Amino acid sequence: MADPDPQYDFDLFVIGVGSGGVRAARMSATYGARVATAEDKYMGGTCVNVGCIPKKLFVYASHFQEDFHHAQGFGWDAVKPAFNWDLLLRNKNAEIKRLNGIYEGLLEQAGVTHFDGRARIVDAHHISINDQVVSTDKIMIATGGWPAMPDWPGIEHAITSNEAFFLEKLPRRALVIGGGYIAVEFAGIFSGLGVETRLSYRGPLFLRGFDQDVRETVRDELVKKEVNLYFNSMVSKIEKQSDGTLHVSFEDGSTMETDVVLCAIGRNPAVHDIGLENVSVECRKNGAIIVDDEFRTSEPNIFALGDVTDKIQLTPVAIAEAMAFAGTQFNDDPKTMDYDGIASAVFCQPNIGTLGLTEEKARETFDEIEVFRSTFRPLKHTLSGSDEMNMMKIIVDKATDKIIGVHMVGSEAGEIIQGLAIAYKAGVTKAMFDATIGIHPTTAEEFVTMREPVAS
Ligand code: FAD
Repeated sequence: MADPDPQYDFDLFVIGVGSGGVRAARMSATYGARVATAEDKYMGGTCVNVGCIPKKLFVYASHFQEDFHHAQGFGWDAVKPAFNWDLLLRNKNAEIKRLNGIYEGLLEQAGVTHFDGRARIVDAHHISINDQVVSTDKIMIATGGWPAMPDWPGIEHAITSNEAFFLEKLPRRALVIGGGYIAVEFAGIFSGLGVETRLSYRGPLFLRGFDQDVRETVRDELVKKEVNLYFNSMVSKIEKQSDGTLHVSFEDGSTMETDVVLCAIGRNPAVHDIGLENVSVECRKNGAIIVDDEFRTSEPNIFALGDVTDKIQLTPVAIAEAMAFAGTQFNDDPKTMDYDGIASAVFCQPNIGTLGLTEEKARETFDEIEVFRSTFRPLKHTLSGSDEMNMMKIIVDKATDKIIGVHMVGSEAGEIIQGLAIAYKAGVTKAMFDATIGIHPTTAEEFVTMREPVAS
């Protein structure tokens, strides 16, 4: 349990009440620490307010158009659905407000003292919030990340994912710039909602770091859904016309007209204006705070976790780091994070689910691998009329028969891969997959029926 030091107002001051900060504060307080938090924007941080949650709600909203269409193959009358963006926004905002309240309640119940406002580090044991200065034994920096913006002329006319969740009007046309998962998800959201959608990425193919088969399958599926993809494409400037239309110029001389430009080129650690110049906390070139296995920075009583450390930028990772931190510092229960086998999903349409090594990384890491892959049209689409394809892939270390990578593009891929992540953590082998009887008829059964490697 925590051992309070009376010379300080608090044992722990957490800057930022996002996924990691809330959990670090709550658990530390539960273990008996005197904890304070500060938040200058929104309770619950990125995930709840401008990340995972509203994004997934928008993905659900955008998928209905296809569902209405597919229903006709199953005997439902053709309906002409009408979409109301205002209503979606109102309902989404109400749900987020409810979640904000839950986070507030969680901190209150745990006995955490919360400050509304921007926190700045004054020195290694003092924090200022608004006009107040408090002292603390330990500091946790959990300030998350912030969208990176290029310096192209006219970039002020572009929005980031933050603003995309609050657009007053659903645009008729949108250009998404970027090749990461947020760009690809928003391309799917806009397109599903009936927006004429284009995606421009400077590289030859988006989703760098994902398995090549996944990247190519998603590319093909987005094209089928009429998202216009522009690869090796570099924006040079954005100009706003008198009627509000945005005129986008590219380095190859081409131009395009659109109503919204959403810039999703990446996120930087949020270290600006938090007072790091007053302490000796080391950062990487991109601002990411460097921490050891206990989340300790180069300033011994200052810690950092979550997106601001730029390890794996996912909510469950920030939460797990916070649990390890609180247990180690305040519950005599030292824990380190295991970053291997963290499954994740991209909620493009169809979804990506991914776990472990890509085929490319596996080839670099292991002497001999076996690759099992299946590409097929899901049963539902035999009647829906859709030409959407699923791709499922398993990568095996031939020497040990262990599964070292699992990848899927298909409906509910995230839900399916989550279950396989448990098996992966338990050290599952291909023989165990083969010994598992499938559930028929499902898409997931394909994972236990792939028998012949397609490559080795
Ligand atoms: P955050 O949640 O960003 O919290 C940091 C908080 O600190 C913020 O509330 C900020 O206002 C506050 N803050 C910053 N500086 C100060 C200061 N000086 N004083 C006071 N407060 C301050 N992850 C997933 O796992 N699944 C997803 O599907 C997913 N989708 C995403 C979609 C989008 C569009 C985005 C942007 C992110 C998504 N993420 C997703 C990533 C996920 O949101 C982050 O990994 C997670 O929120 C990181 O938590 P954190 O605690 O590090 O930071």
